[in-house]
Amino acid sequence: MLQTLDTQEKEQDISEEAEQSLLFTANRPKMIMERGEGMYLWDTEGNAYLDFSGGWAVTSLGHSPAVVQDVLKEQSGTLIHSSPAFYNKPMLEFAKLLTDISCFDKVFFASSGAEANEGAIKLARKYGAVRLNGAYEIITLTNSFHGRTLATMSATGKSQWDHLYEPKVSGFRHVPINDLDACFAAISENTCAIMLELVQGEGGIHIVDQSYLQTLRKACDVYGILLIIDEIQTGIGRTGRMFAYEHYGVEPDIMTLGKGIGGGFPLSAMLTKKQYDLFEPGDQGGTYCGQPLAMAVGRAVVQEVIDRKLGDHAHMQGEYLLLQLRRLSGTFGLSKIRGKGLLTAFDLPAPVGAELVARCLHKGLIINSPSPFVIRLMPALTVATADIDQMLLILAEACKEIGIAAS
Ligand SMILES: *Cc1c(COP(=O)(O)O)cnc(C)c1O
Repeated sequence: MLQTLDTQEKEQDISEEAEQSLLFTANRPKMIMERGEGMYLWDTEGNAYLDFSGGWAVTSLGHSPAVVQDVLKEQSGTLIHSSPAFYNKPMLEFAKLLTDISCFDKVFFASSGAEANEGAIKLARKYGAVRLNGAYEIITLTNSFHGRTLATMSATGKSQWDHLYEPKVSGFRHVPINDLDACFAAISENTCAIMLELVQGEGGIHIVDQSYLQTLRKACDVYGILLIIDEIQTGIGRTGRMFAYEHYGVEPDIMTLGKGIGGGFPLSAMLTKKQYDLFEPGDQGGTYCGQPLAMAVGRAVVQEVIDRKLGDHAHMQGEYLLLQLRRLSGTFGLSKIRGKGLLTAFDLPAPVGAELVARCLHKGLIINSPSPFVIRLMPALTVATADIDQMLLILAEACKEIGIAAS
């Protein structure tokens, strides 16, 4: 007992000192996460947290899934890294798997979502250079999120970033979601692509209309410009289909994947059709692009999502989650309950998002508030009905405690 206390105190000391060594970029709560299993995380004090942020829409198979542990063990015993100059077996097999299950023919692998989007932006600019007389502008949406590199921040339509890290990368024009007139007005002879999320994730779960996307597709065909869909948050079963574009009856020219594709391992991909295989050696690459460990993990995660039909499961559980949220909504004044599959959100009657997140965390539940009036839920695709019921109990208690109610 004494020994446990000692260790705990020591851990506390170490953490306070160590915190001083981290560059400050985020307000993090005090607890230190130590272990994960399925829907739960545990901190160093042994407290359990039911995770309805899914590691930020990343842990598609839940925390520390056995398949990922096994494949890491096996692949790390065989080959951890060769070099970006060589093929490796998992790289070839994983690329083949992704092209088999999508409308695309070619894959470029990277480590983070922003990097995959950088690849998409570069490919669109290359296309503009060789096929459209040097057109380079990309139309993106307000309220969108495409990453944190300079180019992807410039592509992102987030007003808080408008004047951050100036000068921005030029060549991006932002238009409101589901507004065809605004998009058509922005298209010019300089345009090489339109880039969008089908469900805006970080923006607070705003869904692109089917007719809007279908019309954009036709416009892209008419003008010869590329349609880029950022599926970093929506891809790999999250919205109830393997890829969100499947809901729309539309095929993009380029798609990017990240987050859930690695189940927690840093991995992303940019996919395109064979007619846009335009890079020449040296144009695009990276030390870890197609890295064997990442490739083996990604292949295992995607295969698991296919074998266990986790897209269908996400669809069913998402419907149940929305239904139950609607039943709670009257009591606490929750509104605009929305989502696709397990990418869901609702609005609060007051700007208490951060307070509600903190209150839930204290009670052992992790949720996310992308803005003060919005709560977003994106649990693992493997979430059970009992987990959803448990989440709703804690959420209701927390809503009661902070005193929100229907007006
Ligand atoms: C998270 C996210 C990104 C950025 O991915 P990182 O891995 O953080 O670089 C880009 N686009 C969308 C839609 C995202 O949700």
